[in-house]
Amino acid sequence: MDIHEYQAKEVLAGFGVAVPDGALAYSPEQAAYRARELGGEKWIVKAQVHAGGRGKAGGVKLCSSDSEIHAAAEGMFGQKLVTHQTGPEGKGIYRVYVETAVNIAREIYIGFVLDRTSQRVMIVASGEGGMEIEEISATKPESIVRTSVEPAVGLRDFQCRQIAFKLGMEPGLVQHMVRTLQGCYRAFTELDATMVEINPLVVTGDNRILALDAKMTFDDNAMFRHPQISELRDKSQEDPRESRAADRGLNYVGLDGNIGCIVNGAGLAMATMDTIKMAGGEPANFLDIGGGATPERVAKAFRLVLSDKNVQAILVNIFAGINRCDWVAEGVVHALREVQVDIPVVVRLAGTNVEAGQKILAQSGLPIIRASTLSEAAERAVGAWKNDLAQATRVRAVV
Ligand code: GDP
Ligand code: MN
Repeated sequence: MDIHEYQAKEVLAGFGVAVPDGALAYSPEQAAYRARELGGEKWIVKAQVHAGGRGKAGGVKLCSSDSEIHAAAEGMFGQKLVTHQTGPEGKGIYRVYVETAVNIAREIYIGFVLDRTSQRVMIVASGEGGMEIEEISATKPESIVRTSVEPAVGLRDFQCRQIAFKLGMEPGLVQHMVRTLQGCYRAFTELDATMVEINPLVVTGDNRILALDAKMTFDDNAMFRHPQISELRDKSQEDPRESRAADRGLNYVGLDGNIGCIVNGAGLAMATMDTIKMAGGEPANFLDIGGGATPERVAKAFRLVLSDKNVQAILVNIFAGINRCDWVAEGVVHALREVQVDIPVVVRLAGTNVEAGQKILAQSGLPIIRASTLSEAAERAVGAWKNDLAQATRVRAVV
């Protein structure tokens, strides 16, 4: 789960990371009012979307009067901000953050990530802040300092000092840097984050260290134990298909293809996607409906997959171990009667009571395409989709 910049700054400030003064606004009028409350002469108006690269895309504006703030905010509200991280559809701007502008002497990059190879938290830092880390690693790879944290002892102050020295920070700022890095590390571990990024962390003209931008991502599976963080979720920034799935307790990831997948088990879902690709198709989604595929659950899965307008064929792949194929088949039949599907549906069942399951599908009178192996199922789904394309345009089901 991602959160907004202003929320990440508030979280990190709670762990001792220094951030500029700022306030949130939901309208241009409120943005101008917030700036007056903050005082000062220059402000930054920042679009709050779950994506980086806002500066280059026009989502960060320096203003020096009420009317400039109003105009900057008015230009943002209700717009879709398209950055290199949002994809071409962009992300809607419904909140802006107004901050006292800071006089920047130096920009630094710091990021905390989970390094899967070493199974440790890795701190990535560079004296070339302001650019995206991908750009830094392409153009100035030698500037990147990597430090991995031994989980049993945690981040040590000497490691933070080492980072500060490698970044060439002056001695007077080292202690401040230790505090900043320790704050980020504590926020990362105590709140089950998977990423904390401050880009840029700046040294100001008057020699302070401030986090000018902040990004945090959290482990969805740990959110049940951090209600104060899960409350920060903003569905307007999520793929609507994925929010809908999360609300229904389905494990779904939206993709760009057109073969919808309904599968039980994450591993089987991955294998199904691979097999579709090998058969020359593109999966529209990853979907693991879980072990107990009740008729209601199967119907929910059909509705969800069909809500993606790119889906042109559906492949149901169920391996019944604990489950029973006849039970799943009933679910599929029930779902197809209830949901009204007018695109090809291929069903492959395997495991317990498979014969009984096949019989239910066959006797349903529904135009279900059956397959007995995974590769056969994938080939039939891709074939049916291609065949369908060749035929006249179809009227899509209204779900
Ligand atoms: P991003 O483009 O989404 O990563 O948004 P950032 O919050 O990082 O802002 C982009 C850039 O705007 C930063 O790298 C800074 O160079 C600039 N910027 C942001 N806040 C200030 C500020 O208070 N003063 C000045 N001078 N520049 C700022
Ligand atoms: Mn940034």
